[in-house]
Order: sequence, then structure tokens, then C-alpha cells
Amino acid sequence: MSNYLSPQQEPGCPTPNCENAAMGVYTNPHGYVCKKKKKTSRRLECNACRKGFSVKDKASAGQRKPHENKTIFKKIASKKPIREIAAMTKLSIKAVYDKIDFIYAQCLGFVGERTARAHRIRRKYIRLCVDRQDYMTNWRSRKARKIIQFTSICTVEGKTGYVLGHHLNYDPNINQVDVDDIAKASGDFDQRSRSYFHAQSHYWKSDEFYDVARKQATDIRPGLEDERWLVEQLIKETRKVESGWPKAEMADYPGRKNQLPPNGVMSHLDYTSYAHAILMRRLIGSPEYLSIYTDQDEVIRGAYISAFRAGIAMDRVDMAYVQFQKIMEIDEKPHLSNTCEGYLNALELACGCDREVAISVRWFGIKAPMADEIMKVVLVALSVIQRGRTATRIISKMIEHIEAFEENIGDMGSV
Ligand SMILES: [Zn+2]
Repeated sequence: MSNYLSPQQEPGCPTPNCENAAMGVYTNPHGYVCKKKKKTSRRLECNACRKGFSVKDKASAGQRKPHENKTIFKKIASKKPIREIAAMTKLSIKAVYDKIDFIYAQCLGFVGERTARAHRIRRKYIRLCVDRQDYMTNWRSRKARKIIQFTSICTVEGKTGYVLGHHLNYDPNINQVDVDDIAKASGDFDQRSRSYFHAQSHYWKSDEFYDVARKQATDIRPGLEDERWLVEQLIKETRKVESGWPKAEMADYPGRKNQLPPNGVMSHLDYTSYAHAILMRRLIGSPEYLSIYTDQDEVIRGAYISAFRAGIAMDRVDMAYVQFQKIMEIDEKPHLSNTCEGYLNALELACGCDREVAISVRWFGIKAPMADEIMKVVLVALSVIQRGRTATRIISKMIEHIEAFEENIGDMGSV
């Protein structure tokens, strides 16, 4: 999942045991001599072993119509059909698919380089919004015409709308037959074995998948998406749906007419979600406060509480379930928004901070003091009263932590 964050490999001398083999041609240009230069590539010779080889200087090197890349990217982004794109650009269907693969690799490279630096940005407060979504697809396959139902989990930084990660419960690089074989060989289908200790417990096995599917009452996994219920009712209904899952956290269970993808493997959503939450923790660095807003969802809750357990224990991370009041009429929404505007302005003034932080403080109560507040008490010559007020808050918070620690020390055992 986090592969795209690793720096991309630079080309170097292809001779396996050459001393230049690990030396990239861009970072160590003195290790190589340029023999021939073309528009998008160069022919280089290694200074150590004299082996000749070519490197691409442009990602589109070797493509016959690189100028169409941009057009195709735009058309895909506006959901144009593949046939239409092929007709417009006079490319074959295969060439269009090849270009899509190329664009995908370029996008991953771009976002990887950008996002890999995200954790270095120091922020006082971050608000994360998390959601889950189902995708139905009719995979082109001669054999079965059943529906494949994927689920993805997505986290967005609330203030900027920056998508930190959007992950599907799917791995295209793994073979289902291999997964099934390894499972069989290691005795995973023994009735007494426990699923979380299986050889590749994060992937759906064929037998496991169709065994669950067979026992369901509906053709596809039902969703709650379009119900126009009131909040309390929706909480109740969601609870009912979750208790109907074949297993705790098995939100991605198949219906009777669902099938596994013909290529690649489907991963269990709980594993995808937990990995996603851990990756999000890595990407956001260490803000002083963090609020996580999400739908009422057992899987997301479990994943985020596990990933951010340290921050939650230190009172720096809060989580809240939120939902849209879908039943509201169209003109009721701007009215409510306008009414809130005055309230939010007042809140900003009262807290002396940005409304994002103000909402967090108002909703989740008084926070642990921020690092710079502590420094202020120590360094800045505040008035005696001011200093006393902040110091009292800090001291009471410290006492609280010590008391909580003493209370819980009995539970900690050998940890
Ligand atoms: Zn060499």
C-alpha cells in the first residue's frame, strides 16, 4: 500500500558485479560517458566496465504518440468511454489501455513524491474525514457474469480537501490460485484453524468467499446509502446491519451473486482499513490535536482507534461519528448554514483561534495544553494572573495523567 512513497529506482550500470551497479546515472553522472543523445533518451557507457546501455530521460520515451497522453488523461478524468477515446485519438484499444497504465504509473510517481514529504509539515491541528464506499463492476470474463463488489476506504484532510489515501480491497499483483494453494498446503481449511492465523489471512480464499456467499439471503451485499432516515433511526438500522455481518468487522462479505475478480485477489476490508489507518498516521506526522470524523462504522472505528491509540491515550486525538441529515429539504440547508455562521464566528472569538480548532475544543472539551503554551509559561513574561491561569491548567492536566497512570498501572502487566 505504501510502495508508491519509496523513492523511484534510478537506472545504473546493468553489469551485475560492476562497482558502478548501484550508482544512479542522474546522481553520479561522472560514473558514465554519454555516447549518443536522442530527444528522449541517451546511450551511456559505464566508466568502470565499459558496458553500453540506454536510459530514458523522459517518461514517455519509446511512445509513438506521446502528445496524446494529455488528451487521454483528460478524457479518462471526464469518464469518456474507451472506444470513444480510441476513435478520437486514432489509437488502437490496446494502445489506449497501455497509455492508461502509463498514466497510472506517472500519477503514482507524482503523488508518491509529493505525499512522501507530507509528514514533515508541522501542523497544530488536523481534521481527518474518513469514509467507505462500495464499487460494483461487471468484469469482462467469458466464464461468469456475476457482479464483483469492491470496497474502498478513503481519508481526506478536512480543511484543504487533500485526499491522503484512497484504497481498494484489491491487490492486482497476486494470483488467486497461489493464495488458495498456500492456504490448502498450510491447513487453513481445517475446521479448528483460526482465520487470523492463516497463511495469508489478509486475502479472501475462493472457498472461504463462496462459502460465505452461499449462506447469504441477498444477491449482492446491501447498503444503507439511500435511506432517508432520521439520525436516531439511522444509528439503530446501522447497528442492525452490522450485527448481521457473518463475522465481526466482515463488512465486505459477498452476497449470493457476487464473485471474486478474475485477475488479482480481493483483500479483506478489515486488513485494508487497518493498513490504511496506519499509513494515514505516518502521512500526517505529529499534529498537536487531531479530530477524526467518520460514518458510524465498526471497521473504520476499529482501524483508527488502533492506529491512533497513543494519541487518544494522551488526549490529543478525538473521534466522532457524523452523518448528513439527508431528510432535510433543499432550502433548509442554506438556512441552517447561515444560522451556524454567527455561532461559529462567536466561537472563534471566544476561543481566540481558527474555527476548525474552536469546534474541536467546543465539542471535545478542554484539551491537553499544546507544547507552545507550555513554553509560553516558561519563557514569556506574562502577567501574574495569566501565568497562573495557564499554569493551573497545565498542572491539573499533569495530575490527571498521573492519576490515570496510577489507576491503570495494575492492568499493564508485563508490558
Ligand atoms: Zn559498469
